Amino acid sequence: MVGVFMHTLSLYDIKHGLLGKKFSSVEITRRFLDRIAKHSHWNAFITVCEESALRTAQLSDQKIKNGTAGALEGVPIALKDLFMTKGIRTTAGSKMLQNFIPPYESTVSQKLLDAGAVVLGKTNMDEFAMGSANITSRYGPVVNPWSLDKKLVPGGSSGGSAAAVAGYLCAAATGSDTGGSVRQPAAFSGIVGLKPTYGRCSRYGMTAFASSLDQAGPLTRTVRDAAIFLRIISGHDEKDSTSAARPVPDFESFAGKSIKGMKIGLPKEYRMDGMSEEIVDFWRKGAEILKEAGAEIIDVSLPHSKYALPAYYIIAPAEASANLARYDGVRYGFRAEGKNLREMYENTRAEGFGDEVKRRILIGTYVLSAGYYDAYYLRALKVQKLIRQDFVSVFKEVDVLLTPSTPNSAFAFGEEPKDPVSMYLNDVCTVTANMAGLPGVSIPIGLDKQSRPLGLQLIAPHFMEESLIQVGAILEDGANFPMLKEES
Ligand code: GLN
Repeated sequence: MVGVFMHTLSLYDIKHGLLGKKFSSVEITRRFLDRIAKHSHWNAFITVCEESALRTAQLSDQKIKNGTAGALEGVPIALKDLFMTKGIRTTAGSKMLQNFIPPYESTVSQKLLDAGAVVLGKTNMDEFAMGSANITSRYGPVVNPWSLDKKLVPGGSSGGSAAAVAGYLCAAATGSDTGGSVRQPAAFSGIVGLKPTYGRCSRYGMTAFASSLDQAGPLTRTVRDAAIFLRIISGHDEKDSTSAARPVPDFESFAGKSIKGMKIGLPKEYRMDGMSEEIVDFWRKGAEILKEAGAEIIDVSLPHSKYALPAYYIIAPAEASANLARYDGVRYGFRAEGKNLREMYENTRAEGFGDEVKRRILIGTYVLSAGYYDAYYLRALKVQKLIRQDFVSVFKEVDVLLTPSTPNSAFAFGEEPKDPVSMYLNDVCTVTANMAGLPGVSIPIGLDKQSRPLGLQLIAPHFMEESLIQVGAILEDGANFPMLKEES
């Protein structure tokens, strides 16, 4: 029984199944590799590391035998293709880095390797993490494993990681979240996605998009799994000056703790125009679940959240335009020829970047230019401060906020919003947490009438991820979300 369905087990069960010698790391790694090949039409991976995965799995089996197992010993995982992996191609979903083999390892992936995880490969993503549907990748779109009658997008930009976790191609995966790229694809794909507090995890070795907003985070099938994973990737790193020197709690111990007496806020601004009644009903259902578990539900207001999305689409492109200036064909990455240096730069950037990336660079350069800096960029920073202050006052009243994760469920290919601004609306529920540096998690709550997954988001005060785990586990329990049916 365990053998046939072992790929559907949670990370927790895989970890304990390995320690209890119910199956070996080589067996479970092989299973996932076979499934990755079988479901290659989902296009969840850009690079599969078959040989090195099997080699590490063998070593892990040895360590388990010797009693020297690490916290994730032998557990097969996947990494979004923007975490630098020493000796393994890292493309960030772009042609610009199509042949880039990093000479160093990101801190997050190093911590996972140190814990004994087996890396199956690098997952597909929107180019430079810009997108909400995983349709801007140079390596093709990703298909949501929940596609039943129609082919659905998995959300983005960590769409490959979300599809890999939802479709049982790995036990868990890393994502990165600048405006929602862990939580939004998690919601679209019926899994858990957690964005930690800004500074909780090191950004060293993550391809930069908007450095003041980027955070790594886990995509998992359960809340407990997210807690286990988060503990491993968290912590201060002297190689990232924005990583916080804070103790890392045992997040897992908060899964299953009572929430009696906790105060949960429902911010009224998250009930947006055009949001479907179904989502509002699920939101109500989530609040009911928490109330029944002993929490107090309180209506609150975050008056500036309506400005979060427009401000994000100034700040994030501004930082992106600076970060992406390094791709010039000189030191590494793609290089196109030209008659002179200027033409070489122009051709390299024109051919190396896709349309969405170019759009962001143009917006970013514009809002930072001399005449517009005060009117756009500085204003956006001021708005950001107001957004943060809203949260500070609201967290004097409540412990955690409960909101929908997305304004809609996954859309089908061909039915996606055609203009970029409507596409940006996908992040309307998630960007506020990035703007305020707060931790947030998306938990699957149910299926809509079209059988597409929906999620609810929890947001906690800075460095209170344990509250996300505590409340999230109760929500998960009450939601009783149906597992994706998957043959062996
Ligand atoms: N979808 C958002 C964007 O395109 C967020 C991306 C992200 O979080 N990396 O900017």
